[in-house]
Amino acid sequence: MRNYLVAGNWKMNTTRASAVELAAGVKAGVQDHPRVEVLVCPPFPYLSAVADVLRGSKIRWGAQNAWHEKPGAFTGEVALDMLQDLGCTHVILGHSERRHILHESDDIIGRKVDAVISAGLTAILCVGELLAEREANQTESVLNRQMAAGLANVSASQTASLVVAYEPVWAIGTGKTATPEQAESAHLHLRNWLGSRYTSQIGEQVRILYGGSVKAANARELLGQPNVDGALVGGASLKAADFLGIIQGACEQVA
Ligand code: PEP
Repeated sequence: MRNYLVAGNWKMNTTRASAVELAAGVKAGVQDHPRVEVLVCPPFPYLSAVADVLRGSKIRWGAQNAWHEKPGAFTGEVALDMLQDLGCTHVILGHSERRHILHESDDIIGRKVDAVISAGLTAILCVGELLAEREANQTESVLNRQMAAGLANVSASQTASLVVAYEPVWAIGTGKTATPEQAESAHLHLRNWLGSRYTSQIGEQVRILYGGSVKAANARELLGQPNVDGALVGGASLKAADFLGIIQGACEQVA
């Protein structure tokens, strides 16, 4: 049985003070449920301060990106060793903003996924189609391509450290949410893809999160879909009450 994961992607938001306040608010209000895991991914400069707030709680913290090489001459980049040093457990990779604004290629995302999992961290691999691709009926072929490249170097045993996030690009930060049926259909496709690439057991085990304008008001329905195992939340993770409402939605699904 898959546990839910509700992850907050704070993107390039907060100040040091507001990051600490937000983490403290989530910690104070979170419901302790054995089948609902909670993760926050603050900007790099505030990871340490957020870690200080969350240490000792069940809430985990992770990074929004990382570089795949060992520490060395990579100006401006952040190594996995550094993230581990700060107690990070997860790294988001292949977010649509990195794919489409920062032009990260499928190949580099694949290398990062490999490095993150090999380092003993959990990779959250984001995949998702553009609106034009959905309208051209290319959603599944785009997902196939992104999954194949993202997981090119990931063995069956390493999938224990993998989470997939389906994030249709047209739904991220736009207020347009995929319908529960659209989300479920993409998630089922991804699960079947994992089943054929690895084994059907692995297809059943890997968690697939939905991301794209999730809020407390739509979380329950989305999380109620059989193949939706949690949410990757952007905007609504920036207010403790909103994020807690989504976590509550997940708790209600497994109550
Ligand atoms: C995201 O950044 O991963 C995301 C899903 O953003 P939002 O919830 O704001 O759409």
